[in-house]
Amino acid sequence: MGNTKFIFVTGGVTSSLGKGIISASLGKLLQARGLKVTIQKFDPYINIDPGTLNPYEHGECYVTDDGAETDLDLGHYERFLNITTSQANNVTTGRIYYNVITKERKGDYLGKTVQVVPHITDEIKRSIFSLGETGDYDIVITEIGGCVGDIESLPFIEAVRQARWDLGANNALVIHLTLVPYLKSAGELKTKPTQHSVKQLLESGIQPDILVCRSEHRLPMDIRKKMALFCNVHINSVIEALDAETIYDVPILMRKEKLDERVLSKLKLSNKTEPDIDRWKEFLGRHKNPTNEVKIALVGKYVELPDAYKSIAEAFTHAGAENECRVNLEWVHSEEITSENVLSLLANMDGILVAPGFGERGIQGKLIAAQIAREQRIPFFGICLGMQCAVIEFARNVLNLEGANSTEMDPETAHPVIGLMEEQKNITQMGGTMRLGAYVCRLNKGTKAYQAYDKFSVTERHRHRYEFNNTYLEDFKKGGMIASGKNPDTGLVEMIELKDHPWYVGSQFHPELKSTVLTPHPLFVNFIKAAIGYKKDKESKDNK
Ligand code: GLN
Repeated sequence: MGNTKFIFVTGGVTSSLGKGIISASLGKLLQARGLKVTIQKFDPYINIDPGTLNPYEHGECYVTDDGAETDLDLGHYERFLNITTSQANNVTTGRIYYNVITKERKGDYLGKTVQVVPHITDEIKRSIFSLGETGDYDIVITEIGGCVGDIESLPFIEAVRQARWDLGANNALVIHLTLVPYLKSAGELKTKPTQHSVKQLLESGIQPDILVCRSEHRLPMDIRKKMALFCNVHINSVIEALDAETIYDVPILMRKEKLDERVLSKLKLSNKTEPDIDRWKEFLGRHKNPTNEVKIALVGKYVELPDAYKSIAEAFTHAGAENECRVNLEWVHSEEITSENVLSLLANMDGILVAPGFGERGIQGKLIAAQIAREQRIPFFGICLGMQCAVIEFARNVLNLEGANSTEMDPETAHPVIGLMEEQKNITQMGGTMRLGAYVCRLNKGTKAYQAYDKFSVTERHRHRYEFNNTYLEDFKKGGMIASGKNPDTGLVEMIELKDHPWYVGSQFHPELKSTVLTPHPLFVNFIKAAIGYKKDKESKDNK
């Protein structure tokens, strides 16, 4: 394990308290002091990974470079820390059991009864320690999904108890995130739920070292004292986590509460260097003081649940700040768009993004959105299914290929402009079988894509089965839609754009997964630039 130290983050009282953001914020502060940090998430559900989960169940599925389909919290870790994560950073109960059962079948435990303790807990500990064993990190933060007391998370909590014992004092600590609710009728903040949830942790043999308390109101000293006394922690280890204006304020708030200092002192690490968060603050300054404003339609079918498009929304925040521009996202349900209402819904937008997705539902609206952006010369960005819709729309309405479609929507279409890749044709299993993870894309000079990236070769992440059908490539080129980026090994089309349009770009990959606070994604940055330009042109025309 070398000198790696481990921080465990548990949650109590209720779910959705933002363990991911707290973990990412702490990680940021420690990193800003020169430490090498990574963050891992344990999810207590039985699915091997969230790849087979509906976005309504689980929000977005975040994909890493190595092609792991993971929890959206990994997106926060990457965006905050500017690091890349991998399969090792997200482990579910399903994967733990899968590994143990595979070993059992191989005969690894021959003669032994395989049990939750020690076999499952050992496997959990193995995935915690394996990150330490890489030698790449000074600190590994492990976030335990769910709430203490949940039946599902018991083996994880037990593994944390054991890991802390294995590691010894000064090498591991537990941060417990709780809620301190405000009862309006009593006019009081209530500490009892926190006391109970700490008791529950104690029943599992874990004394938390630090309490991070989510609250809508400031925690006065007497409340802090009460929690310190009843939960056996030092008063300085009761950390207030107020609701923040944006998630990107949380590192600053945690710094003010000295969470990083408490952690360093408990882990016996030097706290001599102040965290260098100047660039983070610059980003926040630009984000909060925009000089411009644009309205972008996000056309998707899961718009009721913004978590389904988390990385896209965050990529807009980064790109907006880079352009000193407030990006007002208008979530438009693709099923609501018709040829009759499209102008009233979308014509006053400064940009249209058609979102990724799967299946037939909502496709019609996405095609109409792609069409209106093309015809009205509104900046357009199509991601994955969004790019495929742009291709289908162009085939039907410009190339006059009647009934052109993706074979995902119509397997019998006369013009399969989007079709299944050869290696996907015989796949019958759903989980983990798409084209996943990082692939190289070669860009053509003189294209909007090249202009954005300002380089020939980029690597971007994928999650899809269907592809542009290259037999139609020449027809598209003649008609004015070009392939601006291709995979150099397979010749698969990775990016398309319209030649005669201010900014009409589609990517088969998911650029949003690689946008971070310190490195906003160039395609999003240029899309917003184009939207600002479009808005200015429109305004100057209106004033004439
Ligand atoms: N459904 C499409 C495919 O599988 C697009 C997937 C996506 O948008 N992520 O190719």
